Amino acid sequence: MDKLSPIKAFVCGHPIAHSRSPLIHGTWLTELGIAGSYEAIDVSPEDFPNFAAGLQQAGFAGGNVTIPHKEAAFAAAAVRTEAAELIGAVNTLWFDEGRLCGDNTDAYGFAANLDASAPGWATGSCAVVLGAGGAARAVIVALQQRGFNDIRIVNRTVARAQELADHFGIGANAYGWNALSELLTDADLLVNTTALGMKGQETIAFDLSSMRSAAIVTDIVYVPLTTPLLAEAMGCGLRTVDGLGMLLHQAVPGFERWFGKRPDVTGSLRNRIVSDLEQMP
Ligand code: NAP
Repeated sequence: MDKLSPIKAFVCGHPIAHSRSPLIHGTWLTELGIAGSYEAIDVSPEDFPNFAAGLQQAGFAGGNVTIPHKEAAFAAAAVRTEAAELIGAVNTLWFDEGRLCGDNTDAYGFAANLDASAPGWATGSCAVVLGAGGAARAVIVALQQRGFNDIRIVNRTVARAQELADHFGIGANAYGWNALSELLTDADLLVNTTALGMKGQETIAFDLSSMRSAAIVTDIVYVPLTTPLLAEAMGCGLRTVDGLGMLLHQAVPGFERWFGKRPDVTGSLRNRIVSDLEQMP
């Protein structure tokens, strides 16, 4: 690639039109005065291996990968970070000495959001995690990295929660939804990683009245920003953190790798994305 040509990055998925990543990275490119580009590309699952193999030829410094390509990106990366290995999926690709490298920045984004919005959150040791999908894996990695040693994974399909508990080892245990109220009584943190409460998806009533007054409740769903879970937690006087910050913070490491400058997650960036989400049908 010509050293003087603008640096190119992408986000690929299928579908991809809903992605807010071009707005996030586009805002940072403008703010930092970088003559780069970040484009959304719809790539079908059949086309992903060829797409990944042709990235350097196409002049890309790297990019983001979203549903349904995160496992295929994991397989395509020649070098992977420890977080990517633990999570088993890659959402950020870049080149290092011609080799395709893969990271998963969701664990970083989850922790950075709580660092910014609920300082001191990691002094806790017991967390209840709702869900056992890809996002739950990233959340559990972050919790273990920050010293949580009692992680209670609650999932509709208990076998999936058990698979995660086995994967993450000592301190991670699996439960069904019927155990939830008992599990919440001594928890420091409750995290929803399921699609429950997301606009257009099913929701359920949560009873958080047994939680300790110092407990924190966070939802990684960010449409709507105040999910039914967060509304209930606010009603109980608990500290809450919404999921939009995770989306913003997880974008930081990729931007820095491709464009060479570390961007800030500011209030104005957040407001811009919130306005954009409000325009969604
Ligand atoms: P996934 O792998 O498909 O997992 C979905 C999880 O939700 C599973 O545990 C599933 O339980 C559970 N679930 C779905 N519908 C349910 C219902 N009606 N009742 C009970 N449980 C239900 O999805 P994912 O990739 O982990 O993503 C989950 C959510 O996180 C999505 O809403 C996504 O947008 C959000 N997310 C946000 C960020 C962020 O930056 N804020 C990052 C990543 C993901 P079963 O195993 O029983 O099916």
